[in-house]
Amino acid sequence: LIKVKGLGKSYGDKKVLENISTEVNQGDVIAIIGPSGGGKSTFLRTLNSLESVTEGAIEFEGQDITKLSDKNLNQLREKMGMVFQDFNLFSNMTVQQNITLALKKVKGMNETKANQKALALLKQVGMDQFEQSYPTSLSGGQKQRVAIARALAMKPDVMLFDEPTSALDPEMVGEVLKVMQDLAKKGMTMVIVTHEMGFARHVANNVWFMDGGRFAEVGTPQQIFDNPKNERTQLFLSQVL
Ligand code: ATP
Ligand code: MG
Repeated sequence: LIKVKGLGKSYGDKKVLENISTEVNQGDVIAIIGPSGGGKSTFLRTLNSLESVTEGAIEFEGQDITKLSDKNLNQLREKMGMVFQDFNLFSNMTVQQNITLALKKVKGMNETKANQKALALLKQVGMDQFEQSYPTSLSGGQKQRVAIARALAMKPDVMLFDEPTSALDPEMVGEVLKVMQDLAKKGMTMVIVTHEMGFARHVANNVWFMDGGRFAEVGTPQQIFDNPKNERTQLFLSQVL
């Protein structure tokens, strides 16, 4: 689905990503872990061109996305749902409107159809009781579940998550991870930057340990968590587990 070849990114003369080559296949659930400043967010954002690259290519469904026009870029972003740490909901709109906006504008659905679709999506994330609520009245976990439903509304081929539970109070982490786990079970392709090691171990099929702008070690959860080969991976895991 996604092929990354020789990807590099610098800010001035500071290299943030260095010669990364990797692949995401249909149905993969990939957890990206690693120390702060290692380049995880930057890498994730290059995948849907929120961030430009300095070197290399990223193929998505056979097309090099580093060379897309603005119009094609918008089409690309519909196919890649993105969920951020801080939810990014529209605060002046109800939960329902947050989801129907793009359904009407981008997908051209009428009001009735868009509302039906929104309800189905909200059911999927357990938020159908909150259609008419405004984001300010919701807990962090509830907001994040709405943000996931909104991303799913575009029927993306892959979902990108950047630390979706890091801004949440501990008691709300589980409800969001549960929604993500359900998505994984349904076969959604997902790339998830996370500090939730339990989730990475039990839900991901591949774990990529990122440090200093590279994937220092990649493998199955068993390989990475039970038998890490790289010293940096060992050190990182000894600090977080
Ligand atoms: P965290 O776990 O703290 O979120 P991260 O692994 O996501 O960290 P990035 O945010 O990708 O790391 O940052 C990688 C490096 O790039 C850091 O050294 C950061 O300071 C640098 N960086 C990120 N954005 C910019 C920018 N706009 N200008 C200059 N340097 C940047
Ligand atoms: Mg980050």
